[in-house]
Amino acid sequence: MYDLNERVSYLRGLVDGTGIKEDTDEGKLLTHIIDVLDEMAQAMSELETSQSELDDYVETIDGDLTDLEDQVFGEESGGEEKEEDSHYIEVECPHCHETVYFDEGIFDGEDDIVCPNCNKTIYSEDGNDIESHSD
Ligand SMILES: [Zn+2]
Repeated sequence: MYDLNERVSYLRGLVDGTGIKEDTDEGKLLTHIIDVLDEMAQAMSELETSQSELDDYVETIDGDLTDLEDQVFGEESGGEEKEEDSHYIEVECPHCHETVYFDEGIFDGEDDIVCPNCNKTIYSEDGNDIESHSD
């Protein structure tokens, strides 16, 4: 592939060496064929050059894109973790002494806070912080 130009030149010399005159039918035909081959070989080498330029260019874009992805997605996932930590409140149930977690928003409502482990009320709106009555 790389020595395509050289091989066409070699063919041209070969035809010259056979002694076929250029003004005969065979001579005209061979000369035309070799001219076409010559042009094709040049077109191919031009394509190879622009192909390798494109390869370099795509590689550069790919590298830039990777940097951009690291910046965009890297910062986003770091922020999410921070936010989640402050949303939950850790409480030890006075009845079963299990450590349970509540969304901090639940303490703003009027509903009683019920232990998800033993289903007893941990905190009630109408009075004491911790109800200790049993059934
Ligand atoms: Zn409990």
